[in-house]
Amino acid sequence: MEIRILGTGGFSNDGSFYNCFMIDKHVLAETPPDILQSLKASSIRLDDIDTIIITHFHGDHCFGLPFLLFNMYIRQNGGRQDRRRLRLLAPPGIRERIRTLLGLAISPDHPYIEWTFLNFDIIEIEEGRRYEERPDLWLEFCHSYHSPETFSILAGEGGKESPIFIATSDTRWGPAIDSLVHRGAKLLLCDSGGSKPGEVHMSPDEIREHIVPSLADTSRLIATHFAGRRVSEGRLEYAQAGDLFLV
Ligand SMILES: [Zn+2]
Ligand SMILES: [Zn+2]
Repeated sequence: MEIRILGTGGFSNDGSFYNCFMIDKHVLAETPPDILQSLKASSIRLDDIDTIIITHFHGDHCFGLPFLLFNMYIRQNGGRQDRRRLRLLAPPGIRERIRTLLGLAISPDHPYIEWTFLNFDIIEIEEGRRYEERPDLWLEFCHSYHSPETFSILAGEGGKESPIFIATSDTRWGPAIDSLVHRGAKLLLCDSGGSKPGEVHMSPDEIREHIVPSLADTSRLIATHFAGRRVSEGRLEYAQAGDLFLV
């Protein structure tokens, strides 16, 4: 499995690309406001993307959706050209969000909105359900501790029960995150946006206290969703835009 980090920034942001990543070159996780810029910086073409995941409806995760979908629509010659079926997985309420966001971004009657509904299988995420992406990739989701409703992402290879990759999404620390760590993924990408324990996002100290001791020897821990420059220390490494992980 290949994970490519496109950006690491969160809402509080020093100008870094916002947090998002690709799984196996065709699944895009998150559509932040600068999604077109971070895709281009990592040389990913819009045609490469066949699945989009949005973990929750905060602006740093979904405000780029109109720009992404409009440009996919344009690339299809206004919707007249056939292309393969697309998928969008997001929390319940995604259809209403699409109409609101895309309508606000241009106008409620712009044809890219209907094009989106025609060309995407729009799926409301259910916790614990396994979504077969391709024969060699499945996705699963688990609630994070964050408001609005937010899902962590688990990804595994076809025919294998254990996930290879887990991304916690935005979350504070709690037992569900502990359970995720114990699923033993080879690569764990975790929220590190907090500055002290108990905040909306996990802090580096909480990660060191709660996650590092439970991490399997063969697992790698990568932190994302942070502002400013962070220095990797021990098993806690910080992601950078453009990083590529093969697991
Ligand atoms: Zn966020
Ligand atoms: Zn958030």
